[in-house]
Amino acid sequence: MSFFEFDKEILDISHKALELCKEKFSEINEVSEYNSQKVLKAFIDCNVSERHFNFTTGYGYSDCGREKLDELFARIFNTEDALVRLNFTSGTHALCTALFGILRPGDKILSLTGNLYDTMHNIIDCQNQNLGSLKDFNILFEYLNYDNNIYENIKNKLSNNFKAVYIQKSRGYSLRDSLSCEDIKKLINFVKNINPEIIVIVDNCYGEFVEKIEPSDCGADLTVGSLIKNPGGGIAPSGGYIVGKKKYIDMCASRFIAPGLGKEIGSNPYGYRDIFMGIFNAPKIVSESLKTAVFCACVFELLNFEVSPKYNQKRFDIVQSIILKKPKNMISFCKNIQSCSPVDSFVSPEPWDMPGYNHQVIMAAGNFISGSSIELSADGPIKEPYVIWLQGGTNFDMSKISILKSVSDLI
Ligand SMILES: *Cc1c(COP(=O)(O)O)cnc(C)c1O
Repeated sequence: MSFFEFDKEILDISHKALELCKEKFSEINEVSEYNSQKVLKAFIDCNVSERHFNFTTGYGYSDCGREKLDELFARIFNTEDALVRLNFTSGTHALCTALFGILRPGDKILSLTGNLYDTMHNIIDCQNQNLGSLKDFNILFEYLNYDNNIYENIKNKLSNNFKAVYIQKSRGYSLRDSLSCEDIKKLINFVKNINPEIIVIVDNCYGEFVEKIEPSDCGADLTVGSLIKNPGGGIAPSGGYIVGKKKYIDMCASRFIAPGLGKEIGSNPYGYRDIFMGIFNAPKIVSESLKTAVFCACVFELLNFEVSPKYNQKRFDIVQSIILKKPKNMISFCKNIQSCSPVDSFVSPEPWDMPGYNHQVIMAAGNFISGSSIELSADGPIKEPYVIWLQGGTNFDMSKISILKSVSDLI
């Protein structure tokens, strides 16, 4: 490692961690191999061809790249249909489209996994700012925590009329565990047993390709995510996806474009090559980011920090949290991660008031795609217990350097 110098103490920890991580790494490789074959087979079965990468303009009638991409995602996620669009600005935008797509005034929706990811709060209730949140349209969100009483609580709640339930697979900025697809399948079977008509929406952000199956294999009606996370493979420059039942995808497309137009139009003057390449590479890239998370957990455990998940725990998303206990540790952690980034390594991150978040947030991300969190990135709101969430890492050999650097001021 002659390009980067580390103290012997750090190198010893690194060797020890790599030894301890061996078994986890081989599990990760096995899932990656399975998902890589799944994705390759889908490309072949869909007859993807160079013409599908071409750009279109204007209305984009019969844009074959757009149509092929929807077909490909539907095949990979095992669903009837898909809406994959570069002009979904973010995962939040795709989730917002799904919610407004299927819910109507007077409807109620129940979260089975507690409060939602921070950027979703204004969509649910914008606190009388008249931004057109669900609440402004008389659509009500209610919450159950995913705890030991969840099944009992669901049974009591669902006797009221709920149109839909919402499940967030990943932990987001919380310290609860992420849900496995088995957990999700159990929840879905339970709610559909009570009410077969209920619509299940799953926020799959950070979850794609971490397991061999997806929520869409487990009975979810709509599964939603961001293309600057896992399924974009670090290559898709923007975008999001919704996959699921055709009738619900049509409703989402109506909301996204316009009623009566739906999936029929939508051009892309940029072209589709990067999105195809991104999903093609995604299983491997996700495995690199999982190795980064496992290694990071192990290093910090060796240094007696509390981490979640533990390095040898089962993982159902790519997110790693580290309880750093002090604001100053969060800041030094982020500065050190940033200093090993391929882009903007000379920048020094500071806490700031990020739109959509209630506390100041600090963030390290020297990435090729702005805000991409399948590339190595770390962030956290500056509030007790001063937790950093680290995710991504498209190349474990490089991420390892960043992790080793991140502990240099903490030892
Ligand atoms: C990232 C994320 C979102 C929102 O995605 P953005 O692309 O940041 O808008 C929603 N839910 C979860 C669990 C996420 O991790």
